[in-house]
Amino acid sequence: MKPHRILPEERFSTLLLGDVRVRAARPQPVINPAYGTAFASVPQADPEHLERAVGVAQDAFRRWRALSWEERQAHLEALADRMAQARDELADLLTLEQGKPRHSAAIGEVDYAIGWLRGIAGQRLNGRVLEESLHHHVEQSYAPLGVVGLIVPWNFPLCLAIWKLAPALMTGNTAILKPSPYTPLTALRLAELAEDILPPGVLTVLTGDDALGQWMVDHPGIAKISFTGSAATGRKVMTGAATHLKRVTLELGGNDPAIVLPDADLDACVPQLFWGAFGNSGQWCVGIKRLYVHDDIYSQLLDALVAYARSVPMGDGMDPVNQLGPLQNARQYAKVRDILDDCARQGLRFALGGERAAPDQAGYFVPVTLVDDPPDDSRVVVEEAFGPVLPVLRYRDFDDVVRRANDTEYGLGASIWGRDTAFAQTLAERLEAGTVWINEVYVHGVDFPFGGHKLSGLGVEHGAEGLAAYANLKIRMTAR
Ligand code: NAD
Repeated sequence: MKPHRILPEERFSTLLLGDVRVRAARPQPVINPAYGTAFASVPQADPEHLERAVGVAQDAFRRWRALSWEERQAHLEALADRMAQARDELADLLTLEQGKPRHSAAIGEVDYAIGWLRGIAGQRLNGRVLEESLHHHVEQSYAPLGVVGLIVPWNFPLCLAIWKLAPALMTGNTAILKPSPYTPLTALRLAELAEDILPPGVLTVLTGDDALGQWMVDHPGIAKISFTGSAATGRKVMTGAATHLKRVTLELGGNDPAIVLPDADLDACVPQLFWGAFGNSGQWCVGIKRLYVHDDIYSQLLDALVAYARSVPMGDGMDPVNQLGPLQNARQYAKVRDILDDCARQGLRFALGGERAAPDQAGYFVPVTLVDDPPDDSRVVVEEAFGPVLPVLRYRDFDDVVRRANDTEYGLGASIWGRDTAFAQTLAERLEAGTVWINEVYVHGVDFPFGGHKLSGLGVEHGAEGLAAYANLKIRMTAR
């Protein structure tokens, strides 16, 4: 089998530093995960490229910060318009590099990112008067930080880049964006689209491997790192940032529980639970990763999930019939396979899946897998698989299910499903998570702060708090 498309070697062969295009000595291949073969290559930035990127971003900062909010909004709106014109091309690139089905790439990521960019562009971070008296005027305001480093993973390459870029630029900072080495193309295309909209140096996209991320963390000219990725890397970012007391926002992993109450409307929630767990082939931070189902409805719900899952085709995302794609990279594939092998070794029962993908599927495919009531201490429950593998767990007692749901080092999201929403609220109060959804999951909004408890992160994105995270607070006091 051949990948649908191979991009010409020259297509993404340069980095834009200010208004100069430069080549890198070492190209880096980009793999189409549906086939496991390279279909493009991108430059691999070295420390010299980073040095130049920081220089142009610092130059640009002086002018960009001086613009009004309305002027910066107009630039971001123009970028959103340009992205909308390039929607189909961006969606193609996303599917080719990430693996997700083409319609999800277009609607769930490109359109979403464009809407998000517009939403943040309309926000304002207003100062306020803290004291106004005969003797004293005290005012609180915000000052941009300078050059910020934005480091993102491979599961939602465009959406997560925009989640960071939009508030960073609106608050007057300039940005260096580092996409994952696995999914660099949509970010490079974004830089091209922005080329004649944003002044040179306001946005620089640097592609490179993990070392580039660490150089950014260590660079004294970068004032803040906003990072999304694993908790293990998040720790390295925080350690490195300490040298220069760099600001950090960390959006890390999760092992989100969903609790289904005995009165849940199963017809309504089965599709939502399925997509909450298996959308993007399970590769999302706030995906449902442990499903706790009340004993009274356990068998009925598990059967319904199995039946639903059987109706969802998986394969190359460029084929419109497919609603689920492969895992994004070989490392992730090996990790998920390892967890499945562990399930098999422990003699756990697969209600569905668990087997290896059909031999004709050359890419990183793992069939949708439901594990029937594994022990709480099994790897499939304790670890974040980040793949299409869901442990379904029985419970009878509500106090007990809250304890089990909280029994994780993570605390990103959680969801509760039931008709008695007042009761669900009482459980929600007791869950240790940054966001708890009731009868829905993974809904975000530009005005709703999003962040993790415990190992799931530090700080928040979105909302007024998310904007403020890209600024220094400044107090001005005037004696009268
Ligand atoms: P990762 O931590 O391996 O990599 C993320 C990014 O960090 C990549 O761009 C990578 O090149 C870079 N990086 C690697 N080492 C670095 C270092 N030492 N210093 C600086 N940067 C470095 O994560 P991943 O495997 O790409 O992504 C999967 C993880 O991301 C999962 O745990 C998932 O839950 C998490 N995630 C969290 C959120 C959220 O909002 N909380 C969203 C999506 C994904």
